[in-house]
Amino acid sequence: MPDIRETICITCGQALGEVPRLHRLSDGSPCPACRDRLLETLPPALPRAADRGEPAETVDEPEATTGDELGAPERASGAD
Ligand SMILES: [Zn+2]
Repeated sequence: MPDIRETICITCGQALGEVPRLHRLSDGSPCPACRDRLLETLPPALPRAADRGEPAETVDEPEATTGDELGAPERASGAD
C-alpha cells in the first residue's frame, strides 16, 4: 500500500498541495472539482445585500448601578 499523503483530485488526478489551485483537465478545460475547492477557500467576494440591512446601532447600555444609594451623600449622624 503506497503512502499517499497528498490529496489528489479525483477529477483531474493532480496533487492538490497545500494551496488549492485550479488545475486543468487533459483537454485544457478547468477542472470543476478544483474550481469548487478553490472557491470554498476564498472569502465571499460579493457581500450579501441582505446583511447590510440589519441595524447595527441598537446598543442597549444597561445601567451598571441604580445610583440611588451611591449618589446619596452619606451623612454621618451623631458624629458631632
Ligand atoms: Zn481537479
